[in-house]
Formats: sequence, structure tokens, C-alpha cells
Amino acid sequence: MEQKAQEKAKILYNCETVVYCADDPLVTHTIAPLVESDVAMAMSWSRNHCEAPLQVECAKLTEGSSALNYTFQDEPGSVTIPFTADRDLDNAITCLAVLLQLGLDHEVIAQRMAALTPVGTRLNVIEGVNDCTVIVDSYTSDYYSLTPALNFMTRRAGNRPCTVILSDLAPESYSGDELYIRVSELLKTKRVNRLMGIGKEMCRYHQYFEDLPQARFYHDTQEFLNDFAKGDFDDETILIKGDPRFGFSQIIDLLEAKQHMTVMEVDLNALAHNFKFFKSLIKPETKTVGMVKASGYGAGSYEIAKTLQDCGCDYLAVAVHDEGVELRKAGITTMPIIVLNPNGINYKAMFQYKLEPELYSLEMANELIKEGHKYGVKRFPVHIKIDSGMHRLGFTREQLPALIEFLKGQDIITPASVFTHLSVADEPAQDDYTRSQFDYFDACSDLLQQSFDHYIMRHVLNTSGIVRFPERQYDMVRIGIGLYGIRTLFDGSEDTLMPVSALRSIIISIKEWPAGTTIGYGRRGVLERDSRIATVTIGYADGFDRHFGNGAVNMWVNGKLCPTVGTVCMDAVMIDVTDVPCKVGDTVEIFGEHVPIEQLSEARHTIPYEILTSVSPRVKRVYYRE
Ligand SMILES: *Cc1c(COP(=O)(O)O)cnc(C)c1O
Repeated sequence: MEQKAQEKAKILYNCETVVYCADDPLVTHTIAPLVESDVAMAMSWSRNHCEAPLQVECAKLTEGSSALNYTFQDEPGSVTIPFTADRDLDNAITCLAVLLQLGLDHEVIAQRMAALTPVGTRLNVIEGVNDCTVIVDSYTSDYYSLTPALNFMTRRAGNRPCTVILSDLAPESYSGDELYIRVSELLKTKRVNRLMGIGKEMCRYHQYFEDLPQARFYHDTQEFLNDFAKGDFDDETILIKGDPRFGFSQIIDLLEAKQHMTVMEVDLNALAHNFKFFKSLIKPETKTVGMVKASGYGAGSYEIAKTLQDCGCDYLAVAVHDEGVELRKAGITTMPIIVLNPNGINYKAMFQYKLEPELYSLEMANELIKEGHKYGVKRFPVHIKIDSGMHRLGFTREQLPALIEFLKGQDIITPASVFTHLSVADEPAQDDYTRSQFDYFDACSDLLQQSFDHYIMRHVLNTSGIVRFPERQYDMVRIGIGLYGIRTLFDGSEDTLMPVSALRSIIISIKEWPAGTTIGYGRRGVLERDSRIATVTIGYADGFDRHFGNGAVNMWVNGKLCPTVGTVCMDAVMIDVTDVPCKVGDTVEIFGEHVPIEQLSEARHTIPYEILTSVSPRVKRVYYRE
């Protein structure tokens, strides 16, 4: 943020006056040198009584409007604006500051600011029902904004039919007959296949639209909704353009394709944020391996890999070679990829796709060389695993001389790096053991390095290791669970991590039952009070473990936690929504922003790693970024 502020300050360097908010210490601090050196004059404002010529108090008036009461040069003033959101208030105050600075009269400012209208800045494109594309422009409803919206629609539509849902227009530039004659002319030139006009004016002037195919008119939005169902729209492009007072959001609700299923939402911005966090803990020259094994800890490997690549991550590591092939085919072509468990693999694909194996035994080295010879491979990079105390895979110190001997007698494979894995990096009480692992690794890696002329990279640290033992970062670190926003330490050191994955489902049915009713298989859920019970479309086949039933976990519904009731079924589970208003179609969070994943892992006596990687492949992954 500081760097960003500095960069922005540079563009202010030739300004006479800088208008800014004094409430942000970073901004004030950045601007200070400009102001102090008389390069620019400061016209700052504050809502928090910070030092600034313009002091403002905001007060919410009615639904949708606010008052800005201010003092400027000892003179009080007040303006009313049709906004309430903080960001809108801030923008309005900045405008106010500019106007005052330009010397406009308080009266004039008040008049003009009162006449502002909230304006949307763009056309929204959403995925509609039955493969429709829905374009929403429900901010402005004047004649002049109709042309760009229609142009946008025709461009998006290609050969698909176009439907326009249009409300009465604001009678600004033309009135009555003239306005609607112009609108109908416009629609005719734009190849509109269906018109649905909504509003009294639309109905009144409907005769002008007679030559349009399939034109229908409704007095209000409700009348329209009574006449239409989702099924009336199919594989077409729909432009929804209406004045806000028509409540077109109900139409948008009808036409928007709701995810009638369970989805895992993956926030790629959060991933980038987390990557930067770990990057900030290590030296700039230390390389990073992004662990995308087990399909990116359940989040899906390609999107994760692509984001890490964009962030400047150096290597990727997958568990099995199939995951690597998939990444290469999807377009991760230049990043080196390490395969951690390269046993029983297709060597040809491994060489062809440049998937660099972890080498953990002599047998494996033998096989690699034999296969490499077959395919004419030379100096193929491999990563030598040292078993420093995990006792899973890797060479012990005693085995190393034989390996070195063996490697030196050939030029088919070559050690690119040597590494080991810590077994208790997240447990301070066992740091002695961790230190012994470092020492063991040092001895082994020294021995290996001494035997070769080229430099062999070393790496040890995983997520917890990076935070706890940054002095042991060697040449590279391997970041896993932390990238996905899961904390491994609870001493506050990882608190800025942001959760990446959220598992959501929806309510597909709600019923009221009297106390004593039993819910689900085995009649395990017995209602102790009269209850509203919702059925959520996620079950153990989606990875929602059977142990999560009978109140073991809660789901987040419209701001409240709702416990599970009864046993988890294969494709569904019931929750108690007695205390929260909700309806069929509402979204339920299983884990994410409101339900920490630890609640689920604790209920299962396991770790978040297992919860993340247990979400079934049938659950669609949806990626988003700003
Ligand atoms: C999974 C794995 C990591 C990453 O561990 P996290 O605890 O998820 O950071 C690092 N190195 C190896 C060898 C691994 O298998």
C-alpha cells in the first residue's frame, strides 16, 4: 500500500492543488512532502476531525439519501446527496472539496449536488437460465442510453435471437408519441426478435411497436412475472433495461441461472494475497515451489497453477504425474513441475512433458536411467529426496554414497535439487527434532554437492517451516496449505492469510414439523421443538462426511448458523432453520468466510488438509477474481 501511495504521489507532482482525504494516515504521510515543500497546495477533507480545511459530518437522512454538513473556512454549509454507501459519500465529499476549492457558491453547490442521481457504470452480463445470456442495464432509462445497450446486445448475441425487456423511459429529451416512435425505430434497426414492454407508457404507446415480432406489454413488473416462467426463455440473448423504480431485480432473479448444486468457490485474489504473504517472509532471491498436489489441495490445479505463475512462483509440485500432464496440456508450459510420487508412471509422458521426478531410491534411479536411455534423454533434472526424519521416502545418509557413485557414472539424469520434508515444523515443543532434521539435511546435501561440479539447489521448508524457520530457507521453499489460506500456527503469525475455498450449496426444500418428529435415516434426528427443517443438496458423496450429521456441524444461512439434523444422506442433508428466515433456493455456506474449515476438521478429528481434499470431484469448482 505504501508503494502504491508513493507511485500515485508521483503523478501529483506537477499539480497546484491536491485534493485528498486526510483520514488516511498513509495518504497524508505520502502527500506531506509535496505540501510542505510548497509544490502543491493541500485541499484536504476529513470525516474524523483530522487536521483539514474541510471538516464534514455525514448523516443518513431517509432511505437512500444523506446529508453532508461541513465547515470550510469557518463557514458552515450543508448539502444533501442521494447516496448512503460510505464509498459514495467519500466520492461526493471529494467533489464537494473540488467545488469549494474552485470557489463555487455554497448555494450553487447544494443545488447541484441534490440533483445527482446514482448511475451504474456498466452493463452487467450474467449467465441466464436455459443457456440464455442476460444483459442487465437497470440503472439508466433514458433514450440515449438505449442505443449503446442495444449495440452491446447485438454484438454479444451473434446469431442467437434477441429479446428486450424494456420499461417506460425517462421523458427527458422527447415526450410522448415522439419518444416511443423513436424507440420503436431503434428497436427495428437492431434485429430485436421479442419485445416485452413494461409500464403504463409502454402500454399506452404500444401501437408504435406493432411491426415488431412478438411484442407484448404489461402495466407493471408483477403482471409480467405472472405471465412468464423460466421455460419461456431458451438459448437467447436478453437485454433487461429498466428504470430502477420498476423493480426489475425480480426479473433478473427469475432469469439468472442459479447454481442448483453444490459448488466450491475458489477466490484467486486470496490465493495471490497468500502467496505474497509467504514471499514477504523470505529473501527476494529465494525461489518458491507452489504445491498444487491433490488437485491444488482440492481447489483444482490449473487455475491455481496459472495464478501462481502470474504471481511469479518459480516451480510447481504435483503428487502424481497425471496431474502434471494435465497442467501441461492446459497450458502451463514453461514452469518447471516436480512430481513427488513418480512411481508406476508413464516415463515417456514424463520426459515429453518435462515433469521432473522426485528421486527417492536407487531402484528408481535405475529405472529412470534405463527409460531415459530408451528415449534418448540427456541430463534430465531430478530432485533428490533425503529422509531426515519423516521416514516416508528418501535417501538416508548411508545410502547416499551409492547414489552419488551411480549418478556420476551416467548423464541421463542430473540432480537439480536436493530436499527433505519436516515432520513437526508446526510444533514448537518438538523443535529439537526439527533442528536435528536440518542438521541431518545439511550433512547429506553437503556430501551431494561436493560430489558434483554444478550447483544443486536445496530446499526444506513447508508452510509452517517458512513462518517458523525463515533462517533455514536455503535456495527454495515449498508452500502448500498456507497458499489456500489455512493456518497451521495459532500464534497470530499467519492471521493475515485469506481463505481461498468456500463450499456452498443451496436449500431445495423447507418444511415445518412438530416437536417429536424424526428426521432422516435411522430416525436419528429427533426434533425437540416445533421446527422448520431445510433440505440442503450436499451429501457424503460430495465429501460432506457422515460424521457431520446430527448437529456435529453448522451451516451458515442468511447470517445464522444452523445445525445439521439427522444423518447425512448420500446427496442431501437436513438442517434446522427454525431461527432464521430463509426460502428454497437460498445459499448455504458449509465452510468459507463464515464457517471456518477448522470447525469441520475438528468435528471429524482430522486436519483441514483432509477436509479440503475430500470435496468430491463431482462438486463444480468456480473460480473468481476481481
Ligand atoms: C505437501 C508437501 C509440502 C507442503 O506442505 P504444507 O504443510 O501444505 O505447506 C511441502 N513439501 C512436500 C514434500 C510435501 O509433500
